[in-house]
Amino acid sequence: MSRIVYVNGEYLPEEDAKISVFDRGFLFADGVYEVSAVIDGKLIDNEAHLARLKRSMSELKMTPPATGDEIIAIMEQMVERNGIDEGLVYLQVTRGAADRDFAMPTDATPSLVMFTQKKTLAKNPVADKGISVITVPDIRWKRRDIKTVALLPASMAKQAALDAGANDAWFVEDGFVNEGSSNNAFIVTEDGKIITRHLGNEILHGITRKAVMELARRENLEIEERPFTPEEAYDAREAFSTSASAFVMPVIKIDDHTLGNGVPGPVTDKLRKLYIEMAKAG
Ligand code: PMP
Repeated sequence: MSRIVYVNGEYLPEEDAKISVFDRGFLFADGVYEVSAVIDGKLIDNEAHLARLKRSMSELKMTPPATGDEIIAIMEQMVERNGIDEGLVYLQVTRGAADRDFAMPTDATPSLVMFTQKKTLAKNPVADKGISVITVPDIRWKRRDIKTVALLPASMAKQAALDAGANDAWFVEDGFVNEGSSNNAFIVTEDGKIITRHLGNEILHGITRKAVMELARRENLEIEERPFTPEEAYDAREAFSTSASAFVMPVIKIDDHTLGNGVPGPVTDKLRKLYIEMAKAG
């Protein structure tokens, strides 16, 4: 069955959802995006996603295609029209179509596109087992705090992981882990501390990262926001990644190093459970 896709004011069957070949998203990756999870038909932490979208647009001096309230209304329509009980809403904003020129057009009308994916998020058998990651050099640009559609390095990293028989990749720069290909990276040390890289332009300021850290603090778990090396990760008791599309995902192997007993650890399991409870509670 065809999905309903939103394109610049219209709800269309996906076959009819089209964008100009002159759209700067296509020509220059001149676009930003957000992904919000849906559980029980409700958008999770959506205000925070929209606040980040606003910031991404503002950092790139993009004109917002609609107000926050209008965007929320369209997202809710998309959930309803596509019958999404559990899954994802993707929201793509580009600077719009203009004759090809590196200089940014002042008169282009920004494009707003949304589509949905049905996905089982809470009961995920992959999360029961945990995943393996490889480390790869971080070849991305220096403004990773902006959530742009320039995802080729992330796609290459993910593919390198799959080609190596792993599930995902963690980006390493100057000897330290920045984040995952599409998630934030965490380790739990032998003495039970949760470590994740501090915020900055080097990583995306994950919405799930923030929510999970708040949950951890409520549990009186100790968190250190600092860089950690792959070697420290190899010796960690547990590891996990966070994202809107996978929540808290246990990592049980990093490069050739199996962590602990090779099964998701108790801190990770607890945080995943708490996050899902919070999401379900709305
Ligand atoms: N880092 C990167 C590079 C990502 O692409 C994502 C997910 N889009 C994240 C972190 C996680 O962010 P969030 O929790 O807001 O989904």
